[in-house]
Order: sequence, then structure tokens, then C-alpha cells
Amino acid sequence: MVSGGEDNPVRALAAAWEAAAGVVAEWAEQTAAVARESFHKLASDPAVRAALESWRIALVWTRQDCGCLCDRAHPDDVGVCDNHAVITRRLATGLDGGVDVPLCAPCAVAQGVAEMPGN
Ligand SMILES: [Zn+2]
Ligand SMILES: [Zn+2]
Repeated sequence: MVSGGEDNPVRALAAAWEAAAGVVAEWAEQTAAVARESFHKLASDPAVRAALESWRIALVWTRQDCGCLCDRAHPDDVGVCDNHAVITRRLATGLDGGVDVPLCAPCAVAQGVAEMPGN
């Protein structure tokens, strides 16, 4: 039986963030305050929640590399990637409906920040 696959995407991202916390810790030392604040903003802003819902996030439990195109997806935070994917984000390709891109937690947050309405 499949359990909880369609959870709230914000909660999924939060869970991903927690799952990656160990890995993120290192990176967080460099960008800590900013990242945490950004994530809080992300998770609490209704506009951002709406945006995240369009992401179609799924959690990644197997070992996968991050598929983020950092210099395009979040040009302000190119160095944050830790390459350990914790979620996938469904991106529309316009052809087959979409492709699931694996993202590490820092990249997921950075993308969310980069796409925040009225940033
Ligand atoms: Zn990235
Ligand atoms: Zn990444």
C-alpha cells in the first residue's frame, strides 16, 4: 500500500528539508540565516504555498544527484547545491506533460526564493 504520496507540497518540502538537515548543516553554515529565513517565508506565505503546489513535489528516498540547473534556476545562489536530491519537482516540458527533476534541499529552497512573487 502506498501511504501519503499526495501530501501537502509545503509539508513535503519541509520534510525534505528535515531529511536533508544533516547534509544541509554544512552548507547552512555558509548561508544559514538567509536560508532559514527564506525557508520560513516560503513555508508561511500563502502566495508561495500556491506556487509550490504547482511544483508537484515528490520525495526522493533513493540516492539521486541533484538535477538543478543552478545558474538558470536560481542565479543568485549558484553555490548552494549539495548534489544530494531529496525531492523531485515536476517541470512542464510542453510535450509529454512534464519531467521530474531531482532537487537537493538547498536548490529547492533557492528555486522557491528565486520564484517568490514580488521577490
Ligand atoms: Zn540548484
Ligand atoms: Zn542542487
